[in-house]
Amino acid sequence: MKIGEISKATGVPIETIRYYEKIGLVPAPEREASGYRSYRQHHLDRLVFIRRCRNLDMAQDEIRELIRLADQPDADCSDVDALLARHLGHVRRRLEELTRLEETLTQLQTACSQGRTVSECGILGGLTSESLPEPQPDGHNHIPGSHGPNS
Ligand SMILES: [Zn+2]
Repeated sequence: MKIGEISKATGVPIETIRYYEKIGLVPAPEREASGYRSYRQHHLDRLVFIRRCRNLDMAQDEIRELIRLADQPDADCSDVDALLARHLGHVRRRLEELTRLEETLTQLQTACSQGRTVSECGILGGLTSESLPEPQPDGHNHIPGSHGPNS
């Protein structure tokens, strides 16, 4: 299978497949005599696996860990369980952040009263004042998800 074909079959963009290869989430395909890089079933399986993990908003290091665990079929599954529990914690934390964000935006919205000028608008006043809470710097939680901007 060529990269375009496996991209179509998995719904993962070509650039993303190349990126996954570069960071070692997907093994590099062998080159055929013709020079084409030839992808096989296990590449496809791996890409579908990663796509599903991404749909669950897992971070790259979590996916890497899951792949490592999946490669040890006889090992105890408690590590998988623990990883999932940890990620669920990330999602719940993000949910709390989003709830606070919703409250802040709702407050801001009530600051606008109709029929006044932009210069008197409470929303813009609120945005330029110091009254809004600053986002908590939290390097550990990953979702722009649950996992931060770089996941
Ligand atoms: Zn997570």
